[in-house]
Order: sequence, then C-alpha cells, then structure tokens
Amino acid sequence: MVSIIGAGIAGLATAIALQQQNIKVQIFERTAVSRNIGAGVVLWPNAMFVLKQLGLLEKVLANSFLLSTMQRYNQHNQPLGTLSIERINAQTGLPSRSILRSRLLALLLEHVQALGISLHYDHSLASIREHEHEFTLSFKGQPPRTTQAVIGADGRMSSVIRQYLHGDNQAVYQKFVNVLGIANFATHTAAPAVLDYWGIGERFGIVPVSQERAYWAAGWYCAEKADLDKNDTGQLQRLLTSKFSHWPTPVQHLLSGIEPNSVKALHIHDHNPCQNWSKGKVLMIGDAAHAALPTSGQGACQALEDAWWLARIVHQQGLNAAAFTRFSQQRLAKTASVTHAGRALARSIFNPDAEACQQRNEQSKNSDFEQSAIAMANFWMEDLG
Ligand SMILES: Cc1cc2nc3c(=O)[nH]c(=O)nc-3n(C[C@H](O)[C@H](O)[C@H](O)COP(=O)(O)OP(=O)(O)OC[C@H]3O[C@@H](n4cnc5c(N)ncnc54)[C@H](O)[C@@H]3O)c2cc1C
Repeated sequence: MVSIIGAGIAGLATAIALQQQNIKVQIFERTAVSRNIGAGVVLWPNAMFVLKQLGLLEKVLANSFLLSTMQRYNQHNQPLGTLSIERINAQTGLPSRSILRSRLLALLLEHVQALGISLHYDHSLASIREHEHEFTLSFKGQPPRTTQAVIGADGRMSSVIRQYLHGDNQAVYQKFVNVLGIANFATHTAAPAVLDYWGIGERFGIVPVSQERAYWAAGWYCAEKADLDKNDTGQLQRLLTSKFSHWPTPVQHLLSGIEPNSVKALHIHDHNPCQNWSKGKVLMIGDAAHAALPTSGQGACQALEDAWWLARIVHQQGLNAAAFTRFSQQRLAKTASVTHAGRALARSIFNPDAEACQQRNEQSKNSDFEQSAIAMANFWMEDLG
C-alpha cells in the first residue's frame, strides 16, 4: 500500500493515476473536509492533456469555461498587448479552460471515490519513521499507520515530507500580497478574455469562469509581511476599494460584485528549486516539491503533470526507490523553469519603481505576442505525449 499525504490537486490526481496502474493507494488529509485555497485556476493545455489521460476531460469541459484572449492594460486602461489563448490552443490541439478550484477538487474527489480509493480526513501527518521494509506514519490525535511507500503532496507552506527529505521546509517569501476571491462579473463578449491590469507595484487580474462569474486576484508589493487580518473580509474589501478606486471600469464592476465569503489574503511564497525530491521510497510532489508563484500560472498544471509522469514511470519500472529518483530527475528542469519564470514576472509586475514600470509597459506593448503564444504552448507541452 502506498500512502499519499494531502488531498489537494497533486495528491488526488496522483492517487487516480496510480490506481489506474493497479497500485493500491490511500490518502491522508489533515483537514476535516475538502477545503480549497485560492479561487480558481486556468487549466492550460498541458493540464487538459493530463486530465484527458485521467478520464476526466468530459467532466472538466462541462464544468469549466473556454478562454480566448489575455488582455493586458495599465492602470489607466491603456492597452499593453493581447495574448491569443486561441493561438495557444491551436498550437497544442487542446483547449485552455478556467475553472473554480472547488469544482476541480470536487471532480477529482468524485473520481477518487468512484475508484474506491480510501481518503482519511482529519489525519495530519506529524512524522515518518523508517523501518527495514516499511514506514510508520504518526498522525496528530490518530493511531499510527504502516505503509510501504510515502508520497508527500502536502503543499508549499509546511510540508512534513519536505522537512523529512531536506531537514528544512521553509518557503521563500517573495515580497507581494495577493487578495483573491470570486465575484459576480458579467462577460458580455462571446470570446471571453482574461483581463490583466498592471500598475506601479500593483496588479489586478480578472478571469471569467462563466458568463456571469469571475475569479480575481489583486496583488501588490509588500517588502515585509504586513499586518493584514486575513480573516477580516470587511477590512480586506475596504482596502481593495481604496487601493483600486481609480482603476478601470471592469475593476470597479468586479469590486462591486465580490462574493464576501470567497475573499482571502495571502503573503505569497515559493520554493527555491531543489535537486532531490526522494529518499528511498519517500517522494515529494506538487507544491511540496516545486511550489511556484501564481505569476507562473502553472502550479496546478505542474501538479497534474507530476501525477501523469509518476504513473508513467511506475508503469515502466514498478513503484520503487529507482522510479522515484527517475521521476524527480525527469521533472526537475521543467518545474525549475516554471519557478524562475514566475519569479521574473513577479519581480517585474510588483516592482514599486515607477520608471521601471514605464519601461516594462513599453516592452510589453512592443512584444511579439504571436511568438509568445507559440513559445508558451511548446514549453508547456514539452515532454508530454
Ligand atoms: C494565490 C494563488 C493563485 C494561484 N493560481 C493558479 C493558477 O491560476 N493556475 C495554476 O495552475 N496554479 C495556480 N496556483 C498554484 C496552485 O494552486 C498550486 O500549485 C496547486 O494547488 C498545488 O497543489 P498541491 O496539491 O501540491 O498543494 P495544495 O493544494 O496546497 O494541497 C496540499 C494538501 O495537503 C494537505 N496537508 C498539508 N500538510 C498536511 C499534513 N501534515 N498531513 C496531511 N495533509 C496535509 C493540505 O491540507 C492540502 O489539502 C495558485 C496559487 C496561489 C497561492
């Protein structure tokens, strides 16, 4: 029996992919019920490729929204360029879809249940002890369990598996804040666009998930972790209203339609890429192994790629220490590139220097977005298929 720690996107997708290879898995999740951090995600073609392999394509298509362009503006509504998502889709032969995170998790969960995989909630892993042929997993307030292999999909902020493998699991604060959520937001056009507004060290992004709703993220430079009451949604909404009151009309429409219970605030962290994700039959995947910034737009997509790659390698050589080593060697370069790309964009977007932002905006206006679309599509689909 293989134990997967964490029932996020990486843990659930990996459980499905391994069970489809007839590997018996069980999942342990620290929360009492399914929970979701973040409002929504864009499933780029690489994610759709994996979801298709997992047998989830039809359900995801029925629960998500097709996007056509990503339109960038400055905070005065001057256009900075448009990326054709349709071009990315044409290049890969797969669609890019936006989806609420809660929907994606529900679809994965439904599939996990249909496959008869055990999922133990309220099981917060505290430590692992290695014996000759097995491991003991200790949980807070629950009896210990033994297992033959461990896959840590326990996220970016305090992964017990990362701590076990590296003796350190501290994520790196990248000096910006995100306040995010879901809003009533009418998309009037037949070709829905992601709207991305760039200010000076500030950003407001809007991603439609239907003709009537969108998820959104406001972000700003924040050198020290600010004294932000992350649970006071009233305070967060007032802060947004004052910070973005002079931004373009779509931002104002969105702010007036915010669903208060969806609002969350996060100080944004990632991990420095690290070489080795496994020791014997203990492996880390997903954000625990390679957390990238939201500016990469690829965290969930890379978590899904992990699931597909791990199942593929295990199919070829069995579930053993060598397979785990090969998996981390396979995944390191691409996930490190995603991390670096996310950092480069975050440094540029959340740069508080007005002159640097002006230069950045000029560069954006002069970019070859056709070439960017092709390069992104080719990079994301690299190694898949
Ligand atoms: C603001 C923001 C916006 C984002 N937007 C996008 C986007 O548009 N597109 C995209 O592709 N990605 C996006 N991402 C990234 C993406 O959400 C993550 O990369 C992805 O969810 C990683 O999934 P995961 O399963 O590895 O980790 P998580 O989703 O963090 O899941 C980890 C799970 O492990 C559980 N857990 C933790 N510790 C323990 C323990 N000790 N014992 C048992 N269980 C434990 C947690 O409760 C959780 O359920 C965004 C991230 C952020 C922060």
